[in-house]
Amino acid sequence: DPKGNKTVDQGSFDINLVDAEMGKVVTRFPPEPSGYLHIGHAKAALLNKYFAEQYKGKLIVRFDDTNPSKEKEEYEESIKEDLKLIGIAPENYSHTSDYFEQIYQLALQLIKDGNAYVDDTTQEQMRAERMDGIASKCRNLSVEENLRRFEEMKNATEFGLTACLRAKISVDNPNKALRDPVIYRCNLIPHARTGTAWKMYPLYDLACPIVDALEGVTHALRTDEYHDRNPQYQWFLDALKLRQVHIWEYSRLNFVYTLLSKRKLTWFVDQGRVQGWDDPRFPTIRGIRRRGLTMDALMTYILMQGASTSFVALEWDKLWAVNRKQVDPIAPRHVAIESKDRVKVTVKGAEAYHFKEVPRHKKNEALGNKKTAYGPTMWLDQADAKELAQDEEVTLMDWGNAFVRKIEKSADGVVTAIEAELHLQGDVKKTKRKLTWLADGAELVSVLLKDYDYLITKKKIEEEDELKDLLTPVTEFTTEAIADGNVADLNKGDIIQLERKGFYIVDQKAEAGKPAVLILIPDGKSA
Ligand code: ATP
Ligand code: MG
Ligand code: MG
Repeated sequence: DPKGNKTVDQGSFDINLVDAEMGKVVTRFPPEPSGYLHIGHAKAALLNKYFAEQYKGKLIVRFDDTNPSKEKEEYEESIKEDLKLIGIAPENYSHTSDYFEQIYQLALQLIKDGNAYVDDTTQEQMRAERMDGIASKCRNLSVEENLRRFEEMKNATEFGLTACLRAKISVDNPNKALRDPVIYRCNLIPHARTGTAWKMYPLYDLACPIVDALEGVTHALRTDEYHDRNPQYQWFLDALKLRQVHIWEYSRLNFVYTLLSKRKLTWFVDQGRVQGWDDPRFPTIRGIRRRGLTMDALMTYILMQGASTSFVALEWDKLWAVNRKQVDPIAPRHVAIESKDRVKVTVKGAEAYHFKEVPRHKKNEALGNKKTAYGPTMWLDQADAKELAQDEEVTLMDWGNAFVRKIEKSADGVVTAIEAELHLQGDVKKTKRKLTWLADGAELVSVLLKDYDYLITKKKIEEEDELKDLLTPVTEFTTEAIADGNVADLNKGDIIQLERKGFYIVDQKAEAGKPAVLILIPDGKSA
């Protein structure tokens, strides 16, 4: 394809850029500082990084800060931090605002060449005219008049505030993106970096091709939602006689039951429906990390996707399965028993309460040992206790076999107490049930186990959907539990396995009088 667009099969690592010379490729990731980065941005950033590295070239991170109404300094800081987490830490960050003067000069050039005009048609009329392919009344104003009007926009005069600059491309092209797009607009809100120096700002459609060319970008990666705007991008390069830039298209990342739009995520934050931008239910980098996704798993997954051009929304399972593969060999093993209806077991033949060193992970010696408590009373989960039969031989994990000798139940079938008898010479390979248990003692730690559901009830949100009609009523589930004493030493961010329950990430460390909070990491098996 002459524009250098290239489509690649899903899963391909073997992606190439058109006209890419070793050592000369320059790519760029241009986030708008209007929210926190989400997993879609991670895909964009990592693909750009991938190509820059593959061709021993350079990656530019450019803050696309052309709209003071949406942008905040706070977001810029968070974006830098999050990029660092996925291995992107450039020495310099550029800003579209660094180029405001040059963009302005080029806009004047467009006007002088008869390629742009200042339009003060009302928004509704402009929309209708664009729809119907009708020329604006301002389309054929003289260059002098346009320069005069543009100066009024620059000064944000009463007239200027009602006007916008439009590129004179086409009135009725079937591609509506070419119907004289708006390229400058007034905004009196002070800009985070340029303050009140400017009262009008270029729109992304104008600023992007200009700054890409000025910064020496050789390959501009754009998501397929911009497809119709590619000819427009090219038009600006041509009209302004700028250096050519190859556009390389890739598919926008979408997940089921997930919003990947900063505007919509902001709504959830503002409504207080989540704890913040790092909420574990959020698809932000901070959110999925807090939910237990490792940054290695994220990077592996994104590169597995390649440039995939499928439009379908992806299931989350595959990502979490990649994560589980990375986490399983290195997550220390621990035990927790749910507090509700937990069952006290008297163990005959057990020695007095004592500790023993046991490996943290049976297949990974490097993780060292933990202290496990043993004693004549222990706790079982109600769910396990319910399954047991009189005189059944079971295996107590990290201990040995035992016979279930006596089961006491309440009228409604809840097990209230059990008596067991150790049988350590029994063969652990012959038992059907391997039970997790905790010796009763002072070292036990209170924990809260958290699990989450999708925030929305619809698999794929359409533009016309009202978010407030699609909210999952309850999305956070908390289970009280007790855990082995080693859990007291865990810190925020540590990832463990609670045996037979799943992988968890520590969200809050255990503190005097306060339970530790552990978040269940999806394992990619369910759903
Ligand atoms: P949002 O709708 O979330 O605000 P955006 O595209 O407006 O997204 P930008 O900050 O402008 O946000 O995006 C920076 C870069 O990330 C752009 O190149 C954009 O195309 C890309 N990007 C944004 N969302 C996705 C996504 N879901 N999948 C892949 N790339 C994305
Ligand atoms: Mg954008
Ligand atoms: Mg968007």
